[in-house]
Amino acid sequence: MSEKIGFVGLGIMGNPMSQNLLKAGFSVRCWNRTESKMTEVVSAGAEASISASDVASHSDIIITMLSDSPDVEEVILGKNGVLQGANSGSVVIDMSTISPSVTRNIAQKLSSKGIEMMDAPVSGSLPGALSGTLSIMIGGSENTFDRCKPIFDVLGTRITHCGSNGMGQTTKLANQIIGLGNLAALCEGLVFAIKAGGNPEALMQAFTGGAANSWMVENLGEKILDGDFLPGFMVDLAQKDLRLVQEAAAELQVPLLTTPTVSNLFRAAQQLGAGTDGIQGYVKSLEAIAGINARR
Ligand code: NAP
Repeated sequence: MSEKIGFVGLGIMGNPMSQNLLKAGFSVRCWNRTESKMTEVVSAGAEASISASDVASHSDIIITMLSDSPDVEEVILGKNGVLQGANSGSVVIDMSTISPSVTRNIAQKLSSKGIEMMDAPVSGSLPGALSGTLSIMIGGSENTFDRCKPIFDVLGTRITHCGSNGMGQTTKLANQIIGLGNLAALCEGLVFAIKAGGNPEALMQAFTGGAANSWMVENLGEKILDGDFLPGFMVDLAQKDLRLVQEAAAELQVPLLTTPTVSNLFRAAQQLGAGTDGIQGYVKSLEAIAGINARR
């Protein structure tokens, strides 16, 4: 593999994604703010850097997998950031979920130094990151998309070029309206049926066999019933995504009806101490209102 990859942000998603690139034969240089999170990826064959700028100066393609818009701005545009070190002709692929308008602003600043950007947020959570089966939603030029395609093919199986810079993020935010709304419906259905005395096994068998089935039902239904709230994708990050959705909708003058309710119930879950739970922790806000726990 001739392109040298830089990877910045080795959290829940960045760790397995960078390891998949190593397994596919790419050379990977990495940096993470919390140094200890680099150990595992370095053991798998990556080289550790001292800053995002250092990663960028040694890489042809720099991937960022960070939390929110201000984090991506800081790591790309800030002191010791990617822009400072990156060479003209290199590409920055931001795979975090952030604001479409912030993305376009970053792309413009990178472009003034001859650096292309792709916004490439993902869906599929930790299982998708581990198995290299993410759905990747991409914004940026056709040429740069073609250049980066071998990398996307390692990380995901559904690779969609959605349009120019920002359209990957816009598609991802729409994806979150649908996915998190679906999770909200799953939690509501379970609390409703368990309070009525429903049998957990019968409920899951029925839901997964008919029109109500979905990724959320299949992956998170059992976890809720088992009381397994370990994070694949955290409540705090889901709340961040719905904030981004609502900000983008305000810019577009699009009224949203379901999303603000879901967002408020995620906020209630955060207040109940479930911020670092997986998104299935959303059920805790409904359980508090209904006065039951939807468990086996
Ligand atoms: P995470 O485990 O919290 O990882 C976030 C990473 O970003 C960490 O490496 C963190 O460094 C780094 N970071 C955050 N702010 C930073 C800053 N200001 N400067 C330097 N480094 C910073 O989150 P994740 O679950 O991997 O999610 C990453 C992105 O993918 C998010 O945008 C999320 O919405 C999106 N996403 C996640 C999932 C999922 O299922 N988890 C699915 C689809 C999309 P430290 O280690 O120092 O904190």
